[in-house]
Amino acid sequence: MEQYQGIKFSVRFSEKKIIDFPIQQELIKWGKKLSELGCIPTYPHPVNPLITSSAGNLSARIGGRFIITAAGSNLGALAEKDFVEIINVDIPSRQIDVTGTEEPSSETMLHNSIYQKRSDIQIIFHGHNRHLLAHCSQLGLKSTKKWYPYGTLELMESVCDALGENDSILIMKDHGFLSFGKTCQQAGENIIQVLSDIEKA
Ligand SMILES: [Zn+2]
Repeated sequence: MEQYQGIKFSVRFSEKKIIDFPIQQELIKWGKKLSELGCIPTYPHPVNPLITSSAGNLSARIGGRFIITAAGSNLGALAEKDFVEIINVDIPSRQIDVTGTEEPSSETMLHNSIYQKRSDIQIIFHGHNRHLLAHCSQLGLKSTKKWYPYGTLELMESVCDALGENDSILIMKDHGFLSFGKTCQQAGENIIQVLSDIEKA
């Protein structure tokens, strides 16, 4: 997996405060569950090695905006402060306006483009699991065609190109998975189902 080097866009805080939407409680629960399933590999925090970070991000659409986990947060042990509300994403200037206390996930632009492309999607989970990548074609899962570094516009475009109207899960080639749902339960169960199919394969 690619070495994490931080976010690749600039963040402007409209307000620095801990956000508190009810859906955060569900995302906290699913972050823990996905970690237990081996979908959220951990690594030392890029700035403070005493903190555990994990590779993955969770988001939920709220009205015309969405909330997403903070960059470098530990998905296995999330708290309210680990969520950032995305108010506006400006791709040409690579500028993101937020409310929260932390910087948003490095894949914020990717989540934003998925919510724009598919109005039915309310929840996005992104994680990494090598068994899932290894069994991708065997299970007939749709995948992007080429690997691109995280946080890039090329990665974002490759995902949008590959994402069909009815896909509930999409593999990012040599990288990880994206799971979609109207609810956290749906997005989570897509992954549980694929992992159980792998065990049977
Ligand atoms: Zn990733």
